[in-house]
Amino acid sequence: MTCPIRLQKVTESATFKYSKLAKDKEIDLTIGRTGFDTPQIIRDATKKALDEGKVHYTTSKGIPELRGLISRKLKEENKIPGLDKDNILVSAGAKHIIYEAIMSIIQRGDVVALPNPSWVSYESIINLSEGEIAWLPLKPEKGFIPDDDFFSALENSHPKLIMLNSPNNPTGAVYPEKIIKKIVDIAQRNESIILSDEIYEKIIYEGEHFSAGTIYEDTITVNGFSKEYSMTGWRLGYAASPNMELINRMSLIQAQTVSCAVSFVQYGALEAFTDEAREDVTCMVEALKERRDYLINRFKKTKAVIEKPSGAFYVFPFIEGSDDLLFADSLMENGVGVIPGSPFGSSGRGCIRISYGATGLDELEKAADRIESALK
Ligand code: PMP
Ligand code: GLU
Repeated sequence: MTCPIRLQKVTESATFKYSKLAKDKEIDLTIGRTGFDTPQIIRDATKKALDEGKVHYTTSKGIPELRGLISRKLKEENKIPGLDKDNILVSAGAKHIIYEAIMSIIQRGDVVALPNPSWVSYESIINLSEGEIAWLPLKPEKGFIPDDDFFSALENSHPKLIMLNSPNNPTGAVYPEKIIKKIVDIAQRNESIILSDEIYEKIIYEGEHFSAGTIYEDTITVNGFSKEYSMTGWRLGYAASPNMELINRMSLIQAQTVSCAVSFVQYGALEAFTDEAREDVTCMVEALKERRDYLINRFKKTKAVIEKPSGAFYVFPFIEGSDDLLFADSLMENGVGVIPGSPFGSSGRGCIRISYGATGLDELEKAADRIESALK
């Protein structure tokens, strides 16, 4: 049986692979999720929707009430112009939204500019679309914030699509406004589309979030409920763009694949925009910040290269001369699950990704002890 060529370059998701390997380990710092529960108000509204029989297909793009709230949020908080509910597409997770976006823009040979390192699924989805990746180098000593080498690689690649993700997975970096404006400048000159994945938007400890969509119309802003509201298992994400052609193309894929996001989950998510749900998020971010600070202090005392990341819930230390795959395996044998850096791109070689979203300080201390002795 011949495997289709477009599938041959798709690799197993390293995040899911290492998460499975870590299942029976003492400390699991693999998968990117938080350990908090979904806010009560969202859970209650979802149960109510189920009891009220909201169990059928919804409009393929998502219920109008939810799309209305999302467009309001993006207008008021992110200052993205040109959006109303028709410009929003709700789907079964941001990952599926990203799949729809890439598949509706890229065909064989088209260039997609991808920061190196990047979240594992971007590369595989681009490969599925048969696009060509132009990797944009980032460096641990710069905190993985784009520098001149990044910008010249971007400028020279003339991409059809630029992938942007701030706050970032796997590095935790938050791109300052001036960096995003530089990327937008290059996109404008090359007439590139920007996919701005803002799923960690609310998990920021220092600095401000800036949306490329605020200043550039050909942007698809991607976000979702997984990280902010601890809803990874609910599968709910969305895309927004003032460019209706992009949204229409993505909607075409949606109606012919998942049909729509889960009906009662969409009704529950209406409560995500309330003060009550947002207070839970604020508490969660405070707890995550304490964990970030703890880990950074521990790593600063080792030989690892690490700049304090300002967002998400990952640290991505670089260990000079280490083989990240072997290092992750040895930590795994020692009861600590982490993800090696190289599946995130060649600039991730020698790094490990630690997700502290689901692990409290006591366990992090234990993990840090073991990592520190492995580094000696
Ligand atoms: N983008 C990034 C950067 C991520 O880390 C993830 C992982 N959950 C996603 C998108 C997908 O999120 P989901 O499909 O759970 O909404
Ligand atoms: N995005 C999360 C991670 O990086 C969840 C798993 C996945 O979707 O890859 O671990």
